[in-house]
Formats: sequence, structure tokens, C-alpha cells
Amino acid sequence: MIKVVFFDLDDTLVDTTKLAEMARKNAIENMIRHGLPVDFDTAYNELLELISEYGSNFPHHFDYLLRRLDLKYNPKLVAAGVIAYHNTKFAHLKEIRHVRKALLKLKEMGLRLGIITDGNPIKQWEKILRLDLDDFFEHVVISDFEGVKKPHPKIYQKALKIFKVNAEETIMVGDRLYSDIYGAKRVGMHTVWFRYGKYANRELEYRKYADYEIKDILELPEIIEVLNSAHSNKKVHANR
Ligand SMILES: [Mg+2]
Repeated sequence: MIKVVFFDLDDTLVDTTKLAEMARKNAIENMIRHGLPVDFDTAYNELLELISEYGSNFPHHFDYLLRRLDLKYNPKLVAAGVIAYHNTKFAHLKEIRHVRKALLKLKEMGLRLGIITDGNPIKQWEKILRLDLDDFFEHVVISDFEGVKKPHPKIYQKALKIFKVNAEETIMVGDRLYSDIYGAKRVGMHTVWFRYGKYANRELEYRKYADYEIKDILELPEIIEVLNSAHSNKKVHANR
């Protein structure tokens, strides 16, 4: 019997990858508009390389970009990048299609909801609060706050402990086969791979850990309905 649904955040509830790409492109365009003496492709590719080396939460993307391009430090250009980046993020942050509808449906079904996400706690909360999703979730478990990242079993065990449920009473939904699906399956959760975004064709060696695969988050309530009705049928039989 499923009682709790755990969600990953980025590219499962919130359309993060598309947003980050748009924000980075707009940042470079605005830097060029204010005098960055490099063409778009050169600057954009350099930025992507720098992000893959230093990580997406590195706080000095735009000043390091200037260094990498052998340009003198120029606070005006850094400001142009920062402004366009943040404006894009504020204006275009969106939940993934059907997320709100699916969450409402799950709540109606009496399910308890949680988030298990990797990342910087303030940045993750910022997305949840901006989209006004916080009321749906009883708890949000964030790796950089807990000191352990997915797919380590510990972060999943912490979530089970917080919700006071057994793994088999839960289902984990996420876009990454490795961190979300493999991680959750190892502690015994049911798993749903949300096949979306840049990981839709990656980490396929972990596909065997996915109990279900969906491309629309609205398929989720149906899966749980079927799982729970199969369970209550079994119970009826057992009681006879
Ligand atoms: Mg994700």
C-alpha cells in the first residue's frame, strides 16, 4: 500500500535545465550588448565548459568567464551577466507540465508527499517557494543540508525516518536513473522513472531499477491507484 510519494525536484517538478540554458544564453547576450568583445558561441561554450568544471552553484561564473577569455576584469560586464541571468530565472521559472494537477490528484487520494533533492538548500527552497509548491509537501529533504547525496541509501533512509514509513509504502519519482531510481530501489522503495529532459536517454544501465517509466507526470496517480487497488484486493482475499 503506497502512503507516501517522494519526488525529485529538478527536471521532475521544476523545469530546471531548460531554464538554466535560457538564463545562461541571455546572460551572454547581455554581456555582449554591454561590450563583451567576443562572439556569442565562443563565450557561451566557454561558459558551459566552466560550469562543467566548477559546478552550477559556483558563485563566480561571469568573472571566471572573463579570465578564461583573457579579458581584463570588468565589473560592468559581470553585472550585465548577473542581471540577465537572474531576470530570466525570475521570469521563466516554471513547473513541469501537469505537475500541479498531479499533486492535487495525489493529495485528493490521501497520499503524503515529500521531496528528496540534491543541491544547495536555499536555491532548492527558492524554487519551491517561488512556484508556491510548498503547501503540497510535508517535508523537503535536501542533500547539502543532510550531508549526503543521492543515490546514497542514507538520504533515502533519512526520508523514510522523517515520514515514519517503510520503504515498500513509498514510491520515488525522478528523472535520473542513477541518483533517483537506483538509489531509491536499493532501500526498497517503488520507483517511477520520469523520462524527461537531458537524462531521458542517459544512465540506461540503471533502467532495470525502474518499476515504471512515464513521460507525463499525470500518469503517476493512475500507477498508484492500480498499485493500491491490487493491494486492497489482496487484502479482501486474505480476509475471506
Ligand atoms: Mg532531477
